[in-house]
Amino acid sequence: HPTIVWLRDDLRVADNPALRAAVDRGRPVALLYLLDEVSPGIRPLGAASRWWLHHSLAALGADIAERGGTLLLRRGAAETELPRLVDELGAGAVLWNRRYGGPQRRVDAALESTLREAGLEVQSFQANLLVEPWTVTTGEGNPFRVFTPFWRACLAKGAPRDPVEAPASIPGVGGVAGDDLEDWALLPSHPDWAGGLREAWAPGEAGAHYRLDSFVTDGLDDYAKGRDEPGTDSTSRLSPHLRFGEISPFQVWQRTQRGDLSADAEGNVGKFLSELGWREFNWNILFHFPDLHERNFRSEFDAFPWETPAPPVLQAWRQGRTGVPLVDAGMRELWQTGYMHNRARMVVASFLVKNLLVDWRVGEKWFWDTLVDADEASNPGNWQWVAGSGADAAPYFRVFNPVLQAARFDPRGDYQRRYLPELGTDAYPDPIVDVKASRAEALEAYDFVRRGD
Ligand code: FAD
Repeated sequence: HPTIVWLRDDLRVADNPALRAAVDRGRPVALLYLLDEVSPGIRPLGAASRWWLHHSLAALGADIAERGGTLLLRRGAAETELPRLVDELGAGAVLWNRRYGGPQRRVDAALESTLREAGLEVQSFQANLLVEPWTVTTGEGNPFRVFTPFWRACLAKGAPRDPVEAPASIPGVGGVAGDDLEDWALLPSHPDWAGGLREAWAPGEAGAHYRLDSFVTDGLDDYAKGRDEPGTDSTSRLSPHLRFGEISPFQVWQRTQRGDLSADAEGNVGKFLSELGWREFNWNILFHFPDLHERNFRSEFDAFPWETPAPPVLQAWRQGRTGVPLVDAGMRELWQTGYMHNRARMVVASFLVKNLLVDWRVGEKWFWDTLVDADEASNPGNWQWVAGSGADAAPYFRVFNPVLQAARFDPRGDYQRRYLPELGTDAYPDPIVDVKASRAEALEAYDFVRRGD
């Protein structure tokens, strides 16, 4: 009776507790990835995420084959496809690493009971979050809504466990067929817009560890300051690797604790780990508030008088032609590379929500489609943070002024010039809004929410 490992957001062989436990059972192991776009409530992946997934699965398939195992690709609703594979293989156990989104948890819980009733062993593991949401609460037993006490409580639990070693070999199964990755058509073809993504990224476990190592040796020593400057490459760029689980937060954590860091790097570790903490915080919020991308976390924002943007206005924002350089540089970085620096993300989001008065959900959707790190918790969590409607959000009246932000964080204009070659020529457009006047309008609209009239 073979063991099935059902892979989801954990596309790695190292520090994969479900895989490790399956190999330790001593039976043949089938690794399954199911492309499930049909189960109720599951949010279909955006285009950039599909691109990433394709390459990540290709890399994982090769890593597994090297160890003698097989990665099986199947497509369809998990509740029918997983039991189907169990039957085909006569499997005796199904193992997976836990997920934390609402619809995903429903699917997993239903499968767990169906499979158990059928006499299978089912086991799940903690792999993708340092702290599982139900294990940290306030003194009163409630979920945290504020980051600082949340992270303090997480740290008080002690150092996270050590990563689990990758199995040297994986005993494979025969006699079952999976889909051909190419047939899933995850890659763009007409047109192929992914050239910039190919240049910028190396999806897969090896690429993730390469990033982590180069960041720890070259970027960490200036992280606390450098992370705010989009023109310097001072951040780790681990976000898409973490999103797809090509690397785990346990591995990232451990890499910063080895004692081989420079004194400067050592001094920046706490700040870096607290950013991982924001990832944990957003998942913690999503766990308790599963429709985070659809609903305001703070319901008083339901009354906000958003404007319906004219299509050309929205198009200008999406294409990076608003005439506001830091906004445009960010939006073009996103379009070209599937990524945007965090400082620019805050500025473009604030511009959409507070200068163009567009509902944050419109921006969240665009990011969901175009970011390679589009994350079910961190994307809506951060959009709501900027909009002021989120947990522990920036106050609504804090409007990022994109001109001052540029002067402060990209003073030499390196980032803006990198993405806006026409800056300073007639080809560069005039601003589509008056930043100052629109800010005043946004604050009036906010008053309307506060007064509740
Ligand atoms: P580093 O600075 O090296 O940070 C290390 C890791 O910490 C990141 O890889 C990420 O996993 C985590 N992290 C850092 N900042 C945050 C944060 N604010 N919230 C949650 N986790 C964080 N991040 C995503 O991973 N997916 C998203 O879909 C996403 N959408 C965003 C939307 C908006 C409007 C904003 C303002 C931010 C968003 N972020 C999102 C957070 C942040 O911008 C990215 O995580 C960060 O830029 C990734 O770059 P990095 O890996 O070099 O980060």
